[in-house]
Amino acid sequence: MSLHLVKTENNTSNDLEQIPESMNACLFYGPYDVRLEKVKTPEITENELLVKIKAALTCGTDLKTFQRGHPLLIKQIPSTFGHQFSGIVVKAGKNVKDFYLGQKIIALNSAPCFKCRFCIKEQFSLCKNMKFLNGAYAEYIAVPESIVQHNTYEMPPDISFEEAASLEGLSVVVHGAERSEISSDKTVCVIGTGSIGLMFVALAKLNSAKVISIGRNDYKLNVAKELGADYTFNTSQLADLNQLDKQIKDVTNGIGPDIVIEAVGLPATWELATKLVCRGGIVNFFGGCKKGSKVEFDTYRLHYDELKLIGVFHHTPKHVRIALNLLSNVSFRQKIFEKIITHTVPLRELENAFLMHQSGNAIQVAVRP
Ligand SMILES: [Zn+2]
Ligand SMILES: [Zn+2]
Repeated sequence: MSLHLVKTENNTSNDLEQIPESMNACLFYGPYDVRLEKVKTPEITENELLVKIKAALTCGTDLKTFQRGHPLLIKQIPSTFGHQFSGIVVKAGKNVKDFYLGQKIIALNSAPCFKCRFCIKEQFSLCKNMKFLNGAYAEYIAVPESIVQHNTYEMPPDISFEEAASLEGLSVVVHGAERSEISSDKTVCVIGTGSIGLMFVALAKLNSAKVISIGRNDYKLNVAKELGADYTFNTSQLADLNQLDKQIKDVTNGIGPDIVIEAVGLPATWELATKLVCRGGIVNFFGGCKKGSKVEFDTYRLHYDELKLIGVFHHTPKHVRIALNLLSNVSFRQKIFEKIITHTVPLRELENAFLMHQSGNAIQVAVRP
């Protein structure tokens, strides 16, 4: 057992924090198989931080991983798991100057290298050397050097650990919203009412756009309404999707939404997005489908209607900083996260958290080690 002195910022009080040699962590063994185990507490190098996790959030990506694995995030079995978290610095490598013991921080799950050809073109989400940090469903996590240097932030004051942990999700939404060219003169249609879809609704309203939310769950569609959606449509009650197209035309002067954001990650909703969008509009394929998925599009629409189809993935440091400013905004933060973070569970109930998530009764679940 090693002992480390945790100092507060001004050194007025010293707490003795014991870092145990082993810790509880939930490991991913395969679809629907996560296990709580005792593993070695991570060691850090002189350029890294050891963070005691206070809250980790389940997100749609983790749910998909729980259900089917993940091509980028899960490299070997068993694997540590979870990527949205906040916590307290309990150990810092001797070369780390920007953070101190006891500091409340949020570390993102990756950082670009700033050197590859994509980074030089400022396409940071395409960075060739991006490594993903995965392991938030645990008591401690080692934050690697590149993330310590470029993508770790002090928590805004008076913010809960749960709210802070949502920074990663909000950052991808800020990135997606910017690339979708959302503005107050446009109608934005968001397909999907998971945490990401709902954050898109809130952000589009913050930009004074007209917003349509499409989902399959009345409870979540009501949350979309509370976040400002002007119209909501439940597709589970429709006989066929042509009916939906007509209903959406009815609320958009017969022309369809300027922007459609697919935040589900299924071929059927990708195809739906290209049917609903107006001529000359933008479709943002934000939800990643299973690797190898195929979709069918009407070439007439793509060519003669001049659709702009874009894929947007992940976040960049610039969008993280914008998201951090949004999180510092008390009214925005409270309005959003009271409704989106619906449950809190202890680490040993991670599997249950995903089952709740899957059933549609939870939007995001905070996991507390
Ligand atoms: Zn995520
Ligand atoms: Zn790079």
